[in-house]
Amino acid sequence: MSETQSTSVMDQIVSLCKRRGFIYPASEIYGGIRGFWDYGPLGILLKNNIRDWWWRNMVECPPLGPDGHPVDIVGLDSAIIQNPKTWEASGHVAGFNDPMVDCKATQGRYRADHVKVLIPKDGVGSSFAFVDDKEAAEKKIKRDAHRNPVDYQEVVLTSLPAEAYEKIVGPDAKVAGTLTQPRPFSLMLDTYPGPIRDEANKAYLRPETAQGIFLNFKNIIDTTRVKVPFGVAQIGKSFRNEVTPRNYIFRSREFEQMEMEFFCAPDEALKWYQFWRSERMRWWESLGVAASHLRFRDHAAEELSHYSKATVDIEYLYPFTAPDFGELEGIAHRGDFDLTQHSKHSGQKLDYFDQELQLALKEKGASAEEIKAKSRYMPNVIEPASGLTRAVLVLLCEAYTPDETRPSKVFLKFKPQFAPVKLGIFPLVNKDGMPETAEKLYLDLRGKYTCEYDPKQTIGKRYARMDEIGTPYCITVDGQTAQDQTVTVRDRDTQGQVRVGLDKLQGYLAAGLGK
Ligand code: ATP
Repeated sequence: MSETQSTSVMDQIVSLCKRRGFIYPASEIYGGIRGFWDYGPLGILLKNNIRDWWWRNMVECPPLGPDGHPVDIVGLDSAIIQNPKTWEASGHVAGFNDPMVDCKATQGRYRADHVKVLIPKDGVGSSFAFVDDKEAAEKKIKRDAHRNPVDYQEVVLTSLPAEAYEKIVGPDAKVAGTLTQPRPFSLMLDTYPGPIRDEANKAYLRPETAQGIFLNFKNIIDTTRVKVPFGVAQIGKSFRNEVTPRNYIFRSREFEQMEMEFFCAPDEALKWYQFWRSERMRWWESLGVAASHLRFRDHAAEELSHYSKATVDIEYLYPFTAPDFGELEGIAHRGDFDLTQHSKHSGQKLDYFDQELQLALKEKGASAEEIKAKSRYMPNVIEPASGLTRAVLVLLCEAYTPDETRPSKVFLKFKPQFAPVKLGIFPLVNKDGMPETAEKLYLDLRGKYTCEYDPKQTIGKRYARMDEIGTPYCITVDGQTAQDQTVTVRDRDTQGQVRVGLDKLQGYLAAGLGK
């Protein structure tokens, strides 16, 4: 896909999502607010379907571990605002920042590692920076420097020396030399709970859900029956003051995460890291995402967070990154960093006494010192951390299927399980008892499936709307229904219609919708 084509696919997805009620810009009537989005009637259904599937596969029905027994995972919903010491211990206060450059001319602010620069290959003349729009930068080159764009090469801003900044025309600027040097910019949004607004009362909106899990490690050990190895899963909002929120909901300032911290014995951590790596990839494929659109990207040693022993990202082929991939989930081997840090900062003991290991060592005839040294330890953590709102974006991109032959010109080919609306139920026309029968059918089916009853407009328009929102089946009550107790069922993907007896309908739908 060329860059222009892929940009327009994204524009079309954004426009469909707005038009049909998936996603709206937050505070739109006031001109919006950058980096914030509202999920409309269909967006919330889609998001909840993904959320519920994650929860089902993590907490209610977790996978079988390498030993063939189900792994133990419990749920949690911790507060968004925690004691600010949390973020000192986790390293976020000191280290959770991005390098940022400001433009003195336009007041624009950009993440330095996201700014790319077109620099002349012969080193002569101005360089032109851009964030998303390479074409605009090339136009600037043609206009301002009368040069052929092929004489330029693309580099990341942060790879250029300080003196080169004098020659760079910023992404939205007209003249060179207006970009400042990169400086660290904290990604944490702060707030002041209580009546007094001073430093002592400053708190943070969590930038990740994970820390709430570490803070409750001891509570969960003390109040439930879990034993290491076990996991704690949490889904919820996180907030990051992203310098350049962009690519629609991909990088937002308020978003939702689905994170699980898996606590295990230190010498088993690598085994569990490998386990969760493959489990998580399988999970993304279970959403109906094509395997060819997903890939692993192992972090290189220099890219690893200071605490991480190994990290891999699961990446997706987004229309705006193609032919490259972009992050969807990170799976990190965090060692014992978090529990050790919280233990140091809180003064509480957060290590774990492994009674089973103690018994096993005793049976093996280990020495008293070895038993003592090994059976009390700080658990290691493997963390699969993914974005729920990013998953919504992935399913929208994956489902988006242009089809010039349909009245809607496009349909959303969601795997039925994730489609926001499973069934459209229509009377063919508004007479001869058809609306009454269709409404009765709707009342029968809505307890089982998300249904929409729609008696308005022509049948063609109703099918077109259901195609655009990705509804797998449309059921139409027509003149024949009263005679032979059958309805037509239209399949979203094939557009084929079959007549199904009302007595067979539930079974027919269960086969197609998986319930
Ligand atoms: P990036 O490098 O893209 O800033 P990250 O590596 O900091 O992301 P993590 O801290 O690993 O991201 O967060 C786990 C997941 O949370 C990410 O894989 C992504 O799906 C999601 N996520 C992180 N930041 C955002 C954001 N600003 N908007 C939407 N989702 C996000």
